[in-house]
Amino acid sequence: MTDFTHFPSAKPAVIPVSEILPWAVFAGLLSLLAIYFIGAEQGAVALFQGEFIHEFVHDGRHLLGFPCH
Ligand SMILES: [Zn+2]
Repeated sequence: MTDFTHFPSAKPAVIPVSEILPWAVFAGLLSLLAIYFIGAEQGAVALFQGEFIHEFVHDGRHLLGFPCH
């Protein structure tokens, strides 16, 4: 009878918060820009025809205070 014991040698990499924080702030700013431009689309100006984007983000527009109707 043989006994096999598994000892995993790979350990998860430790990433310090100081290295993650600038990227998290950058991603947050990009997200805010995306929310702004998608939310403002098909309001006073429109890059795309139709009203699909307006209707898709309509409740969010009102929540964030974009001028709507
Ligand atoms: Zn509205």
